[in-house]
Parts: sequence; structure tokens; C-alpha cells
Amino acid sequence: MNNIAPITHYIIVGGGSAGWISAAILSRVTAHLPCKITLIESPTISSVGVGEATIPSIIDLLRFLDIPQTEFIQATQATFKLGIKFTNWLTEDHSYWHPFGNIGQAIDGLSFYQHWLGAKQRGNKNQYSDFSPNVVLAEQNKFAQAQQHQKNILSHSTYALHLDATLMADYLKKYCLTRGVIHRTAHIHDATVCEKQQITSVILDNKEQLAADFYIDCSGQSALLIGKTLQVSYQNWQHYLPVDSAVVVQSKNPSQRQPYTHAIAHPYGWQWQIPLNNRTGNGYVYCSKYCSDKEALATLTNNITEPLENTPRVIKFTTGKRDVFWHKNCLSIGLSAGFLEPLESTGLYLIMKGMLNFVAMLPDSQFQQARCDEYNRQMDLEFENIRDFIIIHYSLTQRNDSVFWQDWHTRPLPKSLEHKLAVFKSNGILMKNPQDLFSDDSWYAVLEGMKMRPANLNPLVNNSDHQQVDAILQKHIYLLEQMIKQAPRHEAFVNALHNNTQKADS
Ligand SMILES: Cc1cc2nc3c(=O)[nH]c(=O)nc-3n(C[C@H](O)[C@H](O)[C@H](O)COP(=O)(O)OP(=O)(O)OC[C@H]3O[C@@H](n4cnc5c(N)ncnc54)[C@H](O)[C@@H]3O)c2cc1C
Repeated sequence: MNNIAPITHYIIVGGGSAGWISAAILSRVTAHLPCKITLIESPTISSVGVGEATIPSIIDLLRFLDIPQTEFIQATQATFKLGIKFTNWLTEDHSYWHPFGNIGQAIDGLSFYQHWLGAKQRGNKNQYSDFSPNVVLAEQNKFAQAQQHQKNILSHSTYALHLDATLMADYLKKYCLTRGVIHRTAHIHDATVCEKQQITSVILDNKEQLAADFYIDCSGQSALLIGKTLQVSYQNWQHYLPVDSAVVVQSKNPSQRQPYTHAIAHPYGWQWQIPLNNRTGNGYVYCSKYCSDKEALATLTNNITEPLENTPRVIKFTTGKRDVFWHKNCLSIGLSAGFLEPLESTGLYLIMKGMLNFVAMLPDSQFQQARCDEYNRQMDLEFENIRDFIIIHYSLTQRNDSVFWQDWHTRPLPKSLEHKLAVFKSNGILMKNPQDLFSDDSWYAVLEGMKMRPANLNPLVNNSDHQQVDAILQKHIYLLEQMIKQAPRHEAFVNALHNNTQKADS
């Protein structure tokens, strides 16, 4: 076996969420290797500063980095998120939930969704989401954590956080600095490349040249290394996901901070409400083809009831992804790699997943192309699966009140999604893809929320004893009713945590 020289120096460009999450993961896995990590961030370009809603993988990230949950929650002014409430997406007077965690439980090896459809035909009156512990909690503004050593109705429920992205970057910066990451504040104005088309150094504004074996581009939408230097093109997905702008502003908290993200559809896009411990994050994501920034600002501010805390700002973006994420000795992570719009809060997840997949294939000085190709294949699937999941939130709409929503009735779907929906429509089966971030329960929740049901029942529903199935469903509802009586209010739980009289399970 050959002893190939390891990478001894990584340069990370960018000090936003992507830069510091990447540095944290890399410093953790290379802790005992002779490897230097330098993070360079511009003093003049600020990070995008949004990215406040997360998905349960944030808790996995904390565990991976060995960060105590309570400490992190306190440092980032975080609250809990049990899922997303979607209002006005199907029609203007309708809402539904996409909760995290399980919805019911598989029975005789067949998905709960199929059994619930069968029970519905027999007259069961419960909605699908009634079987989700997180929906039951969220509807009453309550919060409870599954206890690791106790098996009960909450055992398969999960949660995420609403957090201040800037405070998260600050926290991770301290984490990294104590682990030897070198932090430079400097503007990079160029990079040098050798004849093999590998990056050989970055050139700072003061003309200083810094060299490393490998470069991680976390420079945000400017994509300094992967785009400008290496000329890897960006696949524009606006024909699939047309929103391209967001106006964002923070407001004072209402008296109750709800334990969920609220996503409210409007004529040209949708509005988010994300309650943190000390303030609420708001944004209106819209399509500039149909709506001016001024109009968007008016829509947003007219739909915020509490006083504003700062001046609104507009952020522009292009949905899509890099042709390849890893090219030569450069990896793109964060907005430089791609962006799929904020719905379903997958930005921070893609950063974490991008880095975890990378460290699983950690390169050496020979840069074997096979590893790089496999990485790019895996990340392509991540982006495509998430893209398809986001699209169904829009494409199944019955809204007709604006050109934006009317266009969704005829917009072509990606082939992968067309196929998935065709199979689902036949008898409720979801094509399994091991790379899919969103579980079957998530897909079923959104499809049911948007009133798409299969034409036929899965024949295996009749393989189970119907009486037994009905009894299981009834017991599930009973256990949820018992659970909710005991659960504390989210408000009280969060206050106790921030006042240090309560700890989050870690
Ligand atoms: C409107 C909107 C809402 C979002 N909401 C969510 C959400 O709710 N949940 C979620 O998970 N994700 C969300 N995201 C995505 C999330 O914000 C990003 O994935 C995340 O912030 C990563 O950004 P970044 O670090 O790649 O880029 P940035 O935050 O833009 O950071 C770029 C960094 O690169 C540095 N830099 C740039 N050029 C140079 C240079 N020449 N020299 C040196 N340094 C340089 C800058 O100084 C900065 O530090 C949202 C994104 C948008 C646009």
C-alpha cells in the first residue's frame, strides 16, 4: 500500500455560517493530524446574516462537535422548532403542517399513511397530522423532548432550533479558535492557479500571498474560488424555483413565541416568521418578475404586528447549484455551492452535509478523481431531492389569484419529481432514495397538506386486521392526549432554559 502525503494546510475563504461550520467540522476530524486550518474573512464584505430556521440535523451537528445543547441554545438566543405551519399555500383559507419526526407508526411493515388512508375509508375522522406528536404540541404552543432512556409516544419525535445565525457564527468561531484554527481578517482580491488548473495561493489586498494544499470556498454568492478563479459554472434552477429575492427585517417578539416556523403564502411568494428568544425574524421571499422590492416591503411590513427592530434589507439570490461542488483542490460550501431558497430551511443542513461528506472522502495530496466524482454525485442527489420536495409546496397549489400562482399550474417539473408523483398517485408508494433528506412522513405530510392523494389503496392494507389497526390508531390518539397534558408550554420551557433553571437534553 502506498503512503501518500496527507494534506497539511487547508485555507477556508469566508467567515459566514458556511466558513465557521466547515472550520469546526474540519478541526474536529483532523484534531490529531498534523494539519493547519486558516480561515480568511473579508473586513469589508459582511456575511448574509440570515439562516435562522434549522432542521433536526442541527442537533446532530452539535452532537458531532460535542457542543452542549443548553450552552449553544443560550449563546445563540435559540428557541425550539417542531416543524413548519404552512398557511394559504393550497388556497387562501387553508393551512397544514409539516412536522419533524414521526407521524403514527408503521403497522405490519406498511407505512402508517397507508393504514390511515384505509381507516379513513372506514370512517375514521382524524386528520393525518393528528397522529404527529409535534403537531399536537405545536398547536398548543407546548414543547417536550424525547427522553433518551424512556420509550414513549415521543420517542421518535425530533426537533430543531430557531437561532441567530450571526451569534452561531460567533460561537463556532470561539470553538474553532480554541482548536487551533488560524483566523485572518483580510480581503482576498485574487488567486493563482498552476498549469494543472489547481489553486496555488490566494492574494490578499496587501499583496501577501497565502498558499495551502486545499481550498474551501465559503465566500458566499461571490464564489470567489470555485466560480471566479476555477470558472465552474452555476446551474440556474429558476425555471423550477422562480423566487429570487427576499426582504428581511427583525421585530419585537409577540407575547407567545410559537415552537414552529410559520410560512405564509402571499400573492408573489411567501413570508416567514421565526421567533428567537429575544426577537422575531421576518422575511418575504418573492419573485422579482412579478413584484417590485417596494411592493414586497409593503406586503411584509403590513403583515408584521409587532414593532420593527431594524431597517428592512433586500437580498437577491439565484436558485440553483454549481455544476460540480468539488473541483481540483477546491471545495465549495454554502452559498458558493448553491441555494434552493429558504423554504424548508435546508441551507445550514447542506453546509453540514457538504462538509461531512467531504471529510468522509478526505483527500490526500494526489487528489484521486474517483473520490471527487463520488462526492459530487452524492451532493447532486442532495440538491435534487431537496429541490423536488420544495417544488411540491408550490406546484400542487389551487391558488389562482396572481400570475405567480397561475404559472405554477403549467410550470414543467423535473423528471425525477414527475416520476415520484406518478408512482405516488397510483397507490401511495413513495420511491425510496437513501439520499433523501426528507423522510416518507415528511413527503406524506406535504402531499396530504396540499390535498394530493393516491387513486388507489395499497393492497397490503388489507393484509392487516382492520379492527386491530383501528385500535392502534385510537390508542395513538389517546397517548398523545395524555402526553400533551403533561407537556410544558414552549414559552416556559424556553424561559427556564435561558434563565439557567432548565437544561436541554443532550
Ligand atoms: C433570504 C435567505 C434566507 C435564508 N434562510 C435560511 C434558513 O432559514 N435556514 C437555513 O438553514 N438557511 C437559510 N439560508 C441560507 C443560509 O443563510 C446560508 O446557507 C448561510 O448563511 C451560508 O452563507 P455563506 O456562509 O455561504 O455566505 P455568507 O454569509 O455570504 O458569507 C460569505 C463570507 O465570505 C467572505 N468573503 C466574501 N468575499 C471575500 C473576499 N474577497 N475575501 C475574503 N472574504 C470574502 C465574507 O466576508 C463572508 O464572511 C437563507 C438564505 C437566504 C439568502
